Amino acid sequence: MKLTCVQCGKKFELTDGEIDFYRSKGLDLPKRCKDCRNKNSKKYVVTQKEKRPSSLVAAALLFSFAVVGVILGVYEYGAISYFCAIALFFLSLLFYLRRIKTVQYDLSFGDKYTYKFYDANTFLEHYKKHGSDVGCRSIEDYLKAANRVICDKNSLHKTLPDGDKIYYNKKNGDYVVVSHSGYIRTYYKTRYSHFLNQ
Ligand SMILES: [Zn+2]
Repeated sequence: MKLTCVQCGKKFELTDGEIDFYRSKGLDLPKRCKDCRNKNSKKYVVTQKEKRPSSLVAAALLFSFAVVGVILGVYEYGAISYFCAIALFFLSLLFYLRRIKTVQYDLSFGDKYTYKFYDANTFLEHYKKHGSDVGCRSIEDYLKAANRVICDKNSLHKTLPDGDKIYYNKKNGDYVVVSHSGYIRTYYKTRYSHFLNQ
């Protein structure tokens, strides 16, 4: 089967074996050639540092218990209380050090969709900012829904002077901006007047 790569426009071949593989996994056939997919997959894996607020709360609690332990040691229980305070202090330090976690995101699944974000960072940034507003539970949902808005025949759309295309679903307020080179810039909900004023 010969397909045209949506990214570079070159024709590429899918063997029957490859087609069977995608079908058996319930996946759509790839829209990009192998070269483009390889090039893209690197752009779509990103490592980020994220805060873990629960660890910070636990660290603060344990630290305050440790302080109580010291006070009790001074006034009442002596050595045993100091010992507990030291243990609590180290535990609190442990939680404090865990307050930041490193998360690796592999967002290369975007290849399954016709439209995607330019790279993992832009993708993540917009998902974190707007994902829950548009009612998406996962980052893949967010991309899927944005594609749906773009491909929906009932979506209003227009091309801006700079070449960006905007799509708007009047029923639920979904709004997607696609760059002139075909990447999704953002997806969020907005008022009809916002679409009109662009
Ligand atoms: Zn290509």
